[in-house]
Amino acid sequence: MTKPVIMWFRQDLRLADHPALTAAAAAGPILPVFILDDQTPGDWRWGGASRWWLHHSLAALSLKLPLLLRRGESVSVMEKLIAECGPQAVYFTRDYAPWSGALERRVKELCDRHGVSCHRHGGFLLHEPESIKTGAGSWFKVYTPFSRACFAAGALRPLKPVPQTTLHSDKLASDKLEDWHLLPQHPNWAKGFEPQWTPGEDGARQRLSHFLQEDLAGYATLRDRPDMTHASRLSPHLHWGEVSPHQVWHATEQRRAAAHGKLDQDSEKFLKEILWREFSYQLLHHVPHLPEKAFKPEYDDFPWTEDSEGLRRWQKGQTGYPIVDAGMRELWHTGIMHNRVRMIVASFLVKHLLLPWQAGERWFWDTLCDADIANNSASWQWVAGSGADAAPYFRVFNPILQGEKFDPEGAYVRKWLPELCDVPNDYVHKPWDMPSPPKAYPGPIVDHGKARARALAALKQIKKENVI
Ligand code: FAD
Repeated sequence: MTKPVIMWFRQDLRLADHPALTAAAAAGPILPVFILDDQTPGDWRWGGASRWWLHHSLAALSLKLPLLLRRGESVSVMEKLIAECGPQAVYFTRDYAPWSGALERRVKELCDRHGVSCHRHGGFLLHEPESIKTGAGSWFKVYTPFSRACFAAGALRPLKPVPQTTLHSDKLASDKLEDWHLLPQHPNWAKGFEPQWTPGEDGARQRLSHFLQEDLAGYATLRDRPDMTHASRLSPHLHWGEVSPHQVWHATEQRRAAAHGKLDQDSEKFLKEILWREFSYQLLHHVPHLPEKAFKPEYDDFPWTEDSEGLRRWQKGQTGYPIVDAGMRELWHTGIMHNRVRMIVASFLVKHLLLPWQAGERWFWDTLCDADIANNSASWQWVAGSGADAAPYFRVFNPILQGEKFDPEGAYVRKWLPELCDVPNDYVHKPWDMPSPPKAYPGPIVDHGKARARALAALKQIKKENVI
């Protein structure tokens, strides 16, 4: 009897365009496995919103193939599985979290000890982080030349779907998904997630095709508008590998070609955003401390405050600045926040409240469905000014002007802040200026002008100390 092949699923919860699965299926009868490993270094175990998504994504994948579920430290679980089924090989997709390289090496050593072959494949990124290099052979610290190099390298065509896969026939004991308690119970804070999302490969495919048909037109100019629907909302699907970046790239190119020049600008802008994801992963690969420490080390000396009340009001959407509060409440209710609003709320936390970017990063980690170790840390550092190719710290977003520019009618703010539903447009981003402001909505937690001056003074302090 042909020995089975363990297909270890991770953030690659799909069947199409899946290099590891394609190779595994060609090698022998597959034993598909997912391991829930909560022993992640630095306490980067999946947050609440990610667990909600993971539950539904695993349920969707289980409808397509009988997924074996095991919980525990990955190498120990794998060792037990090897003993139980005597496989010829283990296949998996490479992961890029700072702790994953060591974990994958330990799995390889385990396989070597048991005479099992071990195969690691790409598929989560368009390009392996080592493969895009500057002319001098080093890695890119600036996004624009990096994106140019990626465009020049092109993208692979997605793989054909795996032909009928033979499954390993021995019945091994599997955990029950419900017993993992990935869904919130009392209270069920994820009620608002359900109408927003369809986790899983089919949901990802539908989202991509809807976006390309309906919302790509106008993306370049309207993607910054949280009151509109031109962003793709593909981020959680990409994060969990329910769609591959090659599939997204290829489908976008096809749509662009079919539009005969009408979608060139929009497609290019969208592909450039996909390359920000690649850039974040390239940074994380070369700077594994990115989730914890500043890319520019002088920012680790920043004189942050310890304002726990400020942090609580920011988390709850009670800062008194409507665009900030709308974003934070959207996040809590839906597990997502529009990119422009993420930039505004992040800037507010680190500049207006002078709270460390890591506090915001951790809150996002727990509450975002797309919480992603590379994109989240690189983006927080981008806003905080401490990252590679970051927005300079001295550029402090004015939350009133940002609101007026990107939510001009106040539709986004009114959607998430019912307290402001009757406030006229002229005041919707500064209700405190009304002759009688709505009582149910808090006044501003800080004065914009004073907060800006305090942030710039704090920046001067690290500049003096570090001569930057
Ligand atoms: P679209 O505009 O449709 O973009 C398409 C895809 O490109 C996205 O799905 C995403 O994979 C990628 N992308 C877009 N913008 C960025 C970006 N700035 N950096 C990296 N990749 C990008 N994104 C995450 O996926 N996970 C996170 O945890 C995360 N945390 C963030 C934290 C902060 C403070 C900020 C400012 C941004 C963060 N982002 C994060 C980036 C960005 O906000 C989201 O990727 C985007 O809002 C997702 O919506 P979308 O799929 O509709 O994006």
